[in-house]
Amino acid sequence: MSESSNLHIAVIGAGPGGYAAAFLAADLGMRVTLIDPELNPGGVCLYRGCIPSKAMLHVAKVIDESRHAKNWGVEYGDPKIDVARLRSWKESVVKKLTGGLGQLSKQRKVEYIQGWAAFENSNTLRVKRANGNDDSLSFDRIIIATGSRPAVVPGLKLDSPRMLNSTSALDLNDVPSTLLVIGGGYVGLELGTVYAALGSKVSVVEMLPGLLPGADRDLVLPLHKRMEKIFESILPNTTVASVKQESGGIRVTSDGPEVKEREKVFDKVLVSVGRKPNSDIPGLEKTQVQVGQRGFIQVNKQLQTDDPAIYAIGDVVGEPMLAHKASHEGRTAVEVIAGHKVAFEPNAIPAVVFTDPEIAWCGLTETQAQKENREVKVARFPWAASGRALTLDRTEGMTKLIVDPQTERVLGVGIVGVSAGEMISEGVVAIEMGALAKDIALSIHPHPTLSETIMESAEVFFGASTHVYRPNR
Ligand SMILES: Cc1cc2nc3c(=O)[nH]c(=O)nc-3n(C[C@H](O)[C@H](O)[C@H](O)COP(=O)(O)OP(=O)(O)OC[C@H]3O[C@@H](n4cnc5c(N)ncnc54)[C@H](O)[C@@H]3O)c2cc1C
Repeated sequence: MSESSNLHIAVIGAGPGGYAAAFLAADLGMRVTLIDPELNPGGVCLYRGCIPSKAMLHVAKVIDESRHAKNWGVEYGDPKIDVARLRSWKESVVKKLTGGLGQLSKQRKVEYIQGWAAFENSNTLRVKRANGNDDSLSFDRIIIATGSRPAVVPGLKLDSPRMLNSTSALDLNDVPSTLLVIGGGYVGLELGTVYAALGSKVSVVEMLPGLLPGADRDLVLPLHKRMEKIFESILPNTTVASVKQESGGIRVTSDGPEVKEREKVFDKVLVSVGRKPNSDIPGLEKTQVQVGQRGFIQVNKQLQTDDPAIYAIGDVVGEPMLAHKASHEGRTAVEVIAGHKVAFEPNAIPAVVFTDPEIAWCGLTETQAQKENREVKVARFPWAASGRALTLDRTEGMTKLIVDPQTERVLGVGIVGVSAGEMISEGVVAIEMGALAKDIALSIHPHPTLSETIMESAEVFFGASTHVYRPNR
């Protein structure tokens, strides 16, 4: 047994960061206490984020495909939507997964406390249990994994059941006749896609010039085109000036060059303008932990805060606010506590937008390369040349590699198209392994699959892809 196995660790917050940390700490022989207000581990991701949204997006996809099937000679008629059953199916998915995590905690002998934690000092927490008890507990190390919550814009604060955030939108209380989504980030677009499939007339406003500001524009374009078909309107460069409750809905006043009706009434309004880190933990000021200007807890590459006893991971320490980043940070923090020589310094954290088509990217983006004046070569493979895409009737996709022209090393991968989220992992492995474009071109990919588009984009890099004819070489 190593020295670290004598340590007693507390993890505050049982999201994908917190429970991954707690489980590894237990696997390494440490004594672990995991604290979270929910009945079981899961955090935002399982209870009101990744998992329920993806369950609903699956339903949206089935509805959409069934409608599309008439192009192939198969007609189903209009879907009948039983909202209560849909909701209970989604809830059953969440319950199964979170219950499974509860089991895994027990099997690992992690002490799971349902409750809220506050700091008394760097090593002591006051834990308010859900059963009403209040305890003061001391630990050798504490990992903060308190995550984030939906950001609130002061001008858009309105106490009304018609005003939704991502959490209440996922509750799926009904299907509004009209829905305005404020914010064209991935959460707004994913939830907008769900409600549009269920029958709402969805409009989207985004303050910036385009949807999904973090993604390369050529990846966003096919999605934008498809969304123009499923949404009533998409208004970039538009800000919402005010929201007012009326008897029939929410009156929204918007400003922007493309706004035709400045005031419009919507049945419901979903505000999805980003997330705010939960760094306002009571008593944190009694420790040496420092919080930066944007509210993120400051950590180094070992996930150590300015307080030697306290580590922090996940959404509460910064972007990208994604579940897989949180869990990798969680495991790294525990390894650091265990004395392993490790740091969190990935070359590629994948980002996936689970719309239809999906967008996924990892490593260097083309936009980032341009901003940094970095010389790169971009090889694109259009899915119109993919046999698999054609069999799916989804040829709007595109796969691209961002390659260092000198070393021919793959620096970034971007994909737009169905199942982009499943395929991006190949890009992550390629980048992390330092793969050259040649390695990808020479790795035999199965036919007919969409993954071949990654291999063929590497062939495009060398100017001779089987399915793309270049007359002027
Ligand atoms: C609608 C939606 C869809 C999303 N989809 C995806 C996706 O597809 N893929 C993806 O990677 N990410 C997605 N995310 C983001 C993802 O949910 C977060 O990045 C992830 O949950 C962060 O994990 P975390 O462990 O840092 O914290 P969280 O999951 O936020 O968990 C933190 C936990 O700490 C608890 N807590 C806070 N304060 C205290 C305290 N004082 N005491 C005890 N407990 C406390 C909270 O209640 C919470 O349970 C989505 C988010 C939303 C909202």
